[in-house]
Amino acid sequence: MLPYIRQDLAQFSAYKPHPGSNSFEPVATVFDRLDTNESPYDLPVELKQKLAWTYEQVIETNRYPDGGHEELKRAIAEYVNETATAPFITASNISVGNGSDELIRSLLIASCVGGNGSILVANPTFSMYGILAQTLGINVVTVGRNKETFEIDLDAATAALQSQQNPPIRAIFVVHPNSPTANALSENELSWIKSISPNILIVIDEAYFEFSQNTLVSELDSHPNWVVMRTFSKAFRLAAMRVGYCIAHPELISVLEKVRLPYNLPSFSIATALLAIQNRDLLLNTIPETISERKKLQAGLRQFTQLKVWDSAANFIYLQPKISNTVKIDDLLTSLTEQLLLRGTLVRQTGGGLRITIGTQKENAHTLMRMKTVLDEFEV
Ligand SMILES: *Cc1c(COP(=O)(O)O)cnc(C)c1O
Repeated sequence: MLPYIRQDLAQFSAYKPHPGSNSFEPVATVFDRLDTNESPYDLPVELKQKLAWTYEQVIETNRYPDGGHEELKRAIAEYVNETATAPFITASNISVGNGSDELIRSLLIASCVGGNGSILVANPTFSMYGILAQTLGINVVTVGRNKETFEIDLDAATAALQSQQNPPIRAIFVVHPNSPTANALSENELSWIKSISPNILIVIDEAYFEFSQNTLVSELDSHPNWVVMRTFSKAFRLAAMRVGYCIAHPELISVLEKVRLPYNLPSFSIATALLAIQNRDLLLNTIPETISERKKLQAGLRQFTQLKVWDSAANFIYLQPKISNTVKIDDLLTSLTEQLLLRGTLVRQTGGGLRITIGTQKENAHTLMRMKTVLDEFEV
């Protein structure tokens, strides 16, 4: 351990990305990459050509990027207004980050760092809230979820808010729909969130909004302590570009603008996100197919009596093997994941189950075929 490094960092390991490529050759696609909920579709070639032209003719690599993101924010605001009836969103309601990950970190810095607050999360959920909080020295309070519906344990959450946390809970992170369990916020959860003190920041992560078509943006007017987060990494097919945004009251936005890095987005990412927003009809036209593939994959997986498969409001499916011995479930999940990978399908073992991204028709057919082989061999 380095003597000048915070001791609490010893417990973390660096994020392990899935097998990638170097910059000059395409990835040899030996696997169906169904572990990170990316879109299975690259940008259409005509958009890539436009971007290549932009890179050649417009972007000056010796100049800093547009650090204010004004044009991109205006385009995002226009898109957000199409997806919600009210309030009217403008650029002053938007902050743009290097992926949602950066926005999560900015929200944590703005609300909790330096002993100002703890955060509350309901597991299983997106792990980055807890990980980023801990790297900033922020205390993470966790509660569970209902084992059938994955609704947040609201009694436990209320108790956590009322108990004397030190420091007090300042921010609550929820995902709508949740990852890895794919359920949208229920009416109960919504009324609970609405009942929370306006002194607490509520972060609603809508990373999968385009698949669920269910947004809480319309509530922002009446709840200035809420912030809705979205990303270009999923439905917009731009995981490589690292662009996320959040929508909130202008006063909160101006705080986020203060704490972020001045040139947080490379020029090429800004140009790509802008082009994606301008061509949203073209890019989002694969969503209906993903949703019909989700139905097919879900029905297919439900044929396997050894699996319990949940409904999904996102572009992935969550499942658990049905076994009575809960001690063994993690070992079983690890073997399932390894065996699927040996046959060419990469899935994510997380939150006590498996999360499988909806891929192309071909990939989803592989998923079903390989799952069958693996389950037959296992005699689960
Ligand atoms: C994938 C995902 C994101 C996206 O993160 P980026 O940093 O924008 O790529 C955010 N939140 C959740 C819950 C996700 O699953």
